Amino acid sequence: MPSGRVHNLINVATYSVLAAGVLLAARQDLLTVTPVQALSFSLAFFAGTLLLSPDLDLADGGGVDSQRRWGVLGVLWVPYGWLFRHRGLSHTWLLGPLTRLLYLGLWGLLFLGLVRFLWPEAPLPRVPQPVSLKVVLPLVLGYYLSQWLHLIADGVWPGHGWRQLRRKVGGRKRGAARSR
Ligand SMILES: [Zn+2]
Repeated sequence: MPSGRVHNLINVATYSVLAAGVLLAARQDLLTVTPVQALSFSLAFFAGTLLLSPDLDLADGGGVDSQRRWGVLGVLWVPYGWLFRHRGLSHTWLLGPLTRLLYLGLWGLLFLGLVRFLWPEAPLPRVPQPVSLKVVLPLVLGYYLSQWLHLIADGVWPGHGWRQLRRKVGGRKRGAARSR
């Protein structure tokens, strides 16, 4: 299993090759990427690489790079480590990355609730309207690509979650048959 540093190196190397490719394609007029799109993609990619790594499922044991980068807030990831077994659902291609976003969203909501409770007149942050797909898509792509590179380096391929689930259900059935 690659260490956090190796994962980061793989991600940064892939990002560099991709950026060079996109730049070349843009120069040849094969592709148009606006600065906002490039920034959205890059921010999501590096947030995914450095702050939201699938290995946060080890946060309950400490020693995870991406948890340390949160500073004191790193402690918020400990329950994530309790909830998710290492290389289980956290390391699946579609749901895995989503679990970390939802988990973070829950903490965000909790924080906003607390702010509202302590300071009822507090202005709430507003989502800029309309939310354009042209901005959201690079965000989603950047985040998911950073996660998928981690999974590939771990040797986890799409379908890993289903295989695990099948094995679990199959194992349970076999166990039940044996005990009968
Ligand atoms: Zn991993």
